[in-house]
Amino acid sequence: MTRAFAVLPAVLVAAVAACSNPEPKPSTEPAPGPTPTVQRTPIGELPSIDVDAVLAHTKALSSDQYEGRGPGTEGEELTITYLVDQFRKMGVKPGNSDGTFTQKVPLVGITPSSAPLVLRKDGVEHRLEWREDVVAWSKHVAESASIEDSELVFVGYGIVAPEFGWDDYKDVDVTGKTLVMLVNDPPVAEEQNPSELDPKIFGGKAMTYYGRWTYKYEIGAARHAAGVLLIHETGAAGYPFDVVQSKVSEQFDLVTPDKNMGRVAIEGWITLDQGRKLVELAGKDFEDLKRQAASRDFQPIPLGVTASMTIKNKLRTIDSQNVIARVDGRDPVLRNEYVIYTAHWDHLGVGVAVDGDGIYNGAKDNAVGTAGLIEIARAFTKLAQPPKRSIVFLSVTAEEQGLLGSQYYSLSPAYPLAKTLANINMDGLNVSGRTKDLTLIGYGASDLDDYARDAAGEQGRVIRADPESEKGFYYRSDHFNFAKQGVPALDPDEGVEFIGRPAEYGQKVRDHYTTYDYHKPSDIVRPDWDMSGAREDLQVLFAVGYRVAEADKYPEWKPGNEFKAVREAQLKGKP
Ligand SMILES: [Zn+2]
Repeated sequence: MTRAFAVLPAVLVAAVAACSNPEPKPSTEPAPGPTPTVQRTPIGELPSIDVDAVLAHTKALSSDQYEGRGPGTEGEELTITYLVDQFRKMGVKPGNSDGTFTQKVPLVGITPSSAPLVLRKDGVEHRLEWREDVVAWSKHVAESASIEDSELVFVGYGIVAPEFGWDDYKDVDVTGKTLVMLVNDPPVAEEQNPSELDPKIFGGKAMTYYGRWTYKYEIGAARHAAGVLLIHETGAAGYPFDVVQSKVSEQFDLVTPDKNMGRVAIEGWITLDQGRKLVELAGKDFEDLKRQAASRDFQPIPLGVTASMTIKNKLRTIDSQNVIARVDGRDPVLRNEYVIYTAHWDHLGVGVAVDGDGIYNGAKDNAVGTAGLIEIARAFTKLAQPPKRSIVFLSVTAEEQGLLGSQYYSLSPAYPLAKTLANINMDGLNVSGRTKDLTLIGYGASDLDDYARDAAGEQGRVIRADPESEKGFYYRSDHFNFAKQGVPALDPDEGVEFIGRPAEYGQKVRDHYTTYDYHKPSDIVRPDWDMSGAREDLQVLFAVGYRVAEADKYPEWKPGNEFKAVREAQLKGKP
């Protein structure tokens, strides 16, 4: 094995109070009013999830006919029709406040193109070829955007994190400059044990939001920079450069009132090779700069190099759609509280062809999660009686464009977030057979993890913390927008300990997918898919949502979690 799996956190709340079966209170009053807590139904007695149906939905949604489910395409129309049809047929209710199954999400689609990025120093010119060496775009809703002889400043990891006493800018004014940044967050060694990363700073080996590329462009805008160029490194980013290259096709954004003019003009990535050349042109040593960047004492370094680039934008505004369905709770009061399941229906659509195939089918990402959402909804309709609280099924658009559909929902929710107890997200499912474990990204974040642990425990399985926490997966799917707004969010992932397989099999499956199929046209349903693991995982997710919807209290973020304060303010009705 190339990577040690994370050890489970030892400190976890021992029992889930919400599931502790208190005695039913004798009811002296008629409804309305909270009903007494029912006996917890063992996981084996809940309706089972039909994974043959999950596979059939996945095959349909990831077929070439759906053209990779790009927002605003014929593929979107087919997908929305498919989902609405499924929900309607199983008898769940339209979930949007206007009585329909869909929520309109206004988006702007931007297709960038550019001549080479030109670097200059003392009359020496170096050109970075568009797409080969540099991938850049402008989110300005404008025909073109440019930087002209903008001075390059190396700002290390580009982070301002007061809670870690970290500021890569110090007092340096970078207005109008183009910032060159490293990806991920700084690797800070532990003082006692310098071979290990300090878990108290930027999560140690785990990636924090400060390590995400979206953060880097946000902070660049906050500092009034003209542009931001990230130096790509496969290990630190979590994916190879060709994943970045897929971003030269049309990308979407929510339409903001300022037409995104508050963002930096140029947001880009350059290859590691070109990053080294750039630093060389500045007369510096790349490894030396990286070393400096890993320290609190780091100071921004003007590179004495200027950059010029003009991006031409092809613009298109469209209304994409989220799909929302609902199962009403049985309790006359608690039915106005919600558990929300999410899965993004979109993928990358039709793009640059690989081996003659330009359809990005997105079977695992995320036709299969969308299929799981449908079948969990169906399982709720098969309960003898619905849970006390209502269950919402939300299939969001434009996740691949930066979690836009879920962002839109989180800013314009159909149900108050203060009354939303939990979000349970599905992005990819295990299609490689049964596992002893279920992975939870950001394990220990909230009480939901305890629910999941208990449910998996009833199957004789265990929870495992994210084995690749350095890749920042917690910030990479739709539950993050719920977490950001305070709602406790569960981010499950497939296990790694496959039953009847050698120990390294799980990591091999993950690595193979990341290298060969992730965000490529080859993400398709394979004949060897084995849905027996997905059946168990989906059963856990079903049980978690069901039990939260029956529980006596709201699930909470664990102490020390970055989203806890937001939630507490929200529940007190503060903005
Ligand atoms: Zn996905």
